[in-house]
Order: sequence, then C-alpha cells, then structure tokens
Amino acid sequence: MKVTIDTSSGFCFGVASAVKRAEKILSEAGTVLYCLGDVVHNSEEISRLKNEGLRVINRNEFEKMHDITVLIRAHGEPPLTYNIALKNNITLIDATCPIVLSLQKKIKKGYEDMCFSGGQVIIYGKDGHAEVAGLNGQIENKAHVVTSLGDLDSLKFNIPTILFSQTTMSSEKYKAIAQEIERRCAEEGGTLEMIDSICRSMSTRAEKLAEFARSNEAVIFVSDKKSSNGQYLYGICKENNDNAFFITSAEEIKGRIGDFLKYASIGICGATSTPRWLMDDVANLLYVP
Ligand code: SF4
Repeated sequence: MKVTIDTSSGFCFGVASAVKRAEKILSEAGTVLYCLGDVVHNSEEISRLKNEGLRVINRNEFEKMHDITVLIRAHGEPPLTYNIALKNNITLIDATCPIVLSLQKKIKKGYEDMCFSGGQVIIYGKDGHAEVAGLNGQIENKAHVVTSLGDLDSLKFNIPTILFSQTTMSSEKYKAIAQEIERRCAEEGGTLEMIDSICRSMSTRAEKLAEFARSNEAVIFVSDKKSSNGQYLYGICKENNDNAFFITSAEEIKGRIGDFLKYASIGICGATSTPRWLMDDVANLLYVP
C-alpha cells in the first residue's frame, strides 16, 4: 500500500507564521504568553501549544487584564482591540497575516468611497468569524455580512455597492453571490465594484486537493470538526473520491487499520488549520499495520 501526504495540505503561511511566533516566545524562559482566541482552529494543536505554556483567553478576559503579553492571531483584530491594549498596558505580538492586513486597509478605503457616494459595503463571509469581526471593525461594523444568496433579500441595490470576501471563503460561492448582486444592481439601478479578496493559497488549494483525491484510491482527511475550511475541503475530497474519510486524529483509526489495507494507495491530507504532525501520525500508523 502506498501512503502519500499531500504537500499542499496543512497550515497556510499566515497560520504557520503565527504558530512559529508563539513557539519562539514560549521557548524563552520565564515568558507568559496569552493568545486572544485559538491561534488555529484545531484542538489537537491548541492542546500541544497549551502544554508548551500558551494561555488562551477570550475577549471578556482580555478586556479585564493588564500588563500582559498577548498574541494577535493571523485572522486579525478590529481597532478596538488595539485601543484596549493601549489602555491596559498590554503588549501585543501582532501576527495578523499580511494579506488580512492589506484587506483591512482596502475595506477602510472602500467604506470611505461608499460614504462619499451614499453606497454600501458587503462582506461575503461568516458572521461572527474572527476575521470578519476584524474586517468589519475597521469600518465601525457598518458592512452587511452575507453568507448565502438568501441574505441578499434584505438589502437594496439601487445604490453603489462594494463587495469584499473573507479570505477563506469558496471562490465558486463568491462568484455566485457577485453575479446575483450584479443582476440585482442592473435591475434596481445601482452599481457594483467587486474586490475578490479570497486568499490565493486557499483557492489554488481546492484545485490541488481535488487532483490529489482523484489520484489515490482512498483519502484520509485530518481536521478539527469545528474548522469551516476543513468542512469545505473535505467536501472537495468527497466529491472527487467516494473513499474519503474524515478524522480528527490518528487515535480514531487506531483500532481499524485493517479497513484500509484493501486500498492500493492512500492519500493523507488536511485543512489550513491541520498541523503537519497530525498527518504524520496517521501516515506512521498506516506504514506499520
Ligand atoms: S488563508 Fe491566506 S489570508 Fe488567511 S491567514 Fe492563511 S495565508 Fe493569510
């Protein structure tokens, strides 16, 4: 049986660099590092980092704390977080992904233009997602966040509209939303400016993963169940290979390695939040049945 780990699976560079910064600081003796929210959407990786000393805090805790060091994860934060840090003498280690930072600036500029022309800002993304909260926070939460075509029904399109996207959304769904907005603008007399802000490391990954899934007899997809990127990419594996299995860690298949021996080739892959060591664990189990 041939076992291959997908080289394009695992942390995107934004998440990899945030985790690296956390590890570097944690390796310095006597440092206490807090992180505002989970640095990555993977509970196995979070447990590993907690064992190294990382302390994960929520927003309520952050607002009450003083004189500490806090890591800002790749998703970015709204300006309010930076103001609270200043007020509470909190040192921020800012690991916001440069792509997200640049998108925050574009949204600010887009909002200024819309204020001038009486238009609206739309973000295609998940309401409540940390990156979306960081983006919308740049413009006093004035954007309309839409997740599905149905969310467009409560909006008017007789004014200028500028459309952005959370970096990790699906390109196909973004296109469908953009086309529908375009149609409604034409019908109602508005205009549309589209800023395709989906991260290229995400959009190319879906294509590569589809190919990887097709080139193996079975695929094991490793991800946290809560990762929306994981659900999306697993869907792509399943569409391209009926023998696609979703697991959260090697432990889940420890007792049933025999089920996989019938396949001539098995591909192991994961989400942007899946650490490489979790995929290695699965591969090691299969190498030694
Ligand atoms: S998906 Fe892209 S934009 Fe988002 S953190 Fe990763 S590299 Fe940055």
